Amino acid sequence: MSNGRAATDVQLQTQLFIGGEFVDAADGSTFRVENPAEASTLAEVAEAGEADVDRAVKAARAAFESKEWQRLAARDRGLLLFRLADLIEAHIDELARIETLDNGKPFFESRQIDLPDVVRVFRYYAGWADKIHGETIPVAGPVLNYTRREPLGVVGAIVPWNFPLLLAMWKVAPALACGNTVVLKPSAETPLSALKLAELVAEAGFPGGVFNVISGFGSKAGAALVRHPDVDKIAFTGSTEVGQEIMREAASTIKKVSLELGGKSPNIVFADADLEAAARGVNMGIFYGKGEVCAAGSRLFVESKVHDELMENVVARAKKMTPGDPFDKNTRLGAIVSERQMERVLGYVERGVSEGAKLLTGGARVDRPGYFVEATVFDKVTSDMTIAQEEIFGPVLAALTFDDVEEAIALGNSTIYGLAAGVWTQDLKKAHKVAHGLRAGTVWVNTYNRYDAASPFGGYKQSGFGRDLGMHALEQYTQVKSIWIDLS
Ligand code: NAD
Ligand code: MN
Repeated sequence: MSNGRAATDVQLQTQLFIGGEFVDAADGSTFRVENPAEASTLAEVAEAGEADVDRAVKAARAAFESKEWQRLAARDRGLLLFRLADLIEAHIDELARIETLDNGKPFFESRQIDLPDVVRVFRYYAGWADKIHGETIPVAGPVLNYTRREPLGVVGAIVPWNFPLLLAMWKVAPALACGNTVVLKPSAETPLSALKLAELVAEAGFPGGVFNVISGFGSKAGAALVRHPDVDKIAFTGSTEVGQEIMREAASTIKKVSLELGGKSPNIVFADADLEAAARGVNMGIFYGKGEVCAAGSRLFVESKVHDELMENVVARAKKMTPGDPFDKNTRLGAIVSERQMERVLGYVERGVSEGAKLLTGGARVDRPGYFVEATVFDKVTSDMTIAQEEIFGPVLAALTFDDVEEAIALGNSTIYGLAAGVWTQDLKKAHKVAHGLRAGTVWVNTYNRYDAASPFGGYKQSGFGRDLGMHALEQYTQVKSIWIDLS
């Protein structure tokens, strides 16, 4: 694993990628992209407006209808995806560096987790490309009835800044494997890895227009993509608030929508758990990715009789999570993505204190350039407090207590969200009972934050609908046609 700052030896891509070419915005607009670990400017990047979004959608539509894409054998589409995976792997260091420079997450995470997962996601869906097919159905009459699983057409993918490339590829890989074309809008906080990836898409030999990237703001480029009548589907990951807006806007063109939204996931520790493992899991569950993780275990529920023992361990671990230079190989807590997000997180800390929670450790901005916040643990939280209900999206843990299984399930379910949950117990029956009782799309037992390209991920309740990853994502990017052939 290489190390070092090395901002200088990466070549950033700063133009829009439309129809297979890198281009400036039609009106020449750009916006500033920042390195949050130094509060320094990384690049001025092309800012897509309505005209650029229209150009990208037209390119994607033309590519979708082209003979080149329509007649490409499914297995050859798979080969293109395998080739792209190989190219990403060959450029993995460079892409991981760009991700860390732009987002502030530890290089260790970008290089050892995000980027290897991007490669795996492409290989997983490359394998699916020629295994997506219909069925013949024994309907009544002298007739042959069969189905085809056809692509939707143009997919608009809109993604957040916390796992900029990985969450984009959760959508792009299955969409392409199913034969769609894509217009991707990365977050304005972190557009650089998606733009760099576009270079590799071109190199892999995808026809121009099959994959397009429009960097820009949600209110402008994002909204224009959602409004565009020639986009067939919006695949969105982001906040519940913006998800609501997208759902409303998509109604006017009956766009298909899938939404992966926020969370306030419970991590539930029973007294019979391996408390050492649980403390480790609770810590990683909230501080991995600076807590800017949709599935972050931001609410800790600990069985009263082991409260003191567990909290002592969790706090000792949190105190060791010193925020620092993301390129230092020992750093496990990086910079918050932006000043605005840092202020938001610190605002929640203030709120926690003013509502009467007990601050056990952390809570402050770190005195160094960039946007760093200490690993923060609140105890004596009650379920009605703001920090127990709202998604903070930062390194802030809220601890509550419970006394039995029913109470744990009820408390775990007591927010509008239902993205993920953790359960720590050595009792098999209890583990299943709680896992079944929790209204969440993912439940981890005696582990946390595990993902695999083959396993579905998505929300219950106001955490959204539709599933990324696994075979379930294929349903999000295909539609079924029923064909009847008269045989009489
Ligand atoms: P956000 O909702 O502000 O933005 C997400 C994306 O939507 C960005 O690309 C943004 O530019 C775009 N956007 C904003 N307004 C838009 C509009 N009106 N029309 C179209 N697009 C618009 O979210 P964020 O701050 O970038 O990311 C943090 C949020 O994402 C958190 O709530 C987090 O829980 C959620 N998230 C969810 C998952 C999941 O899988 N469920 C994963 C990661 C993050
Ligand atoms: Mn940035």
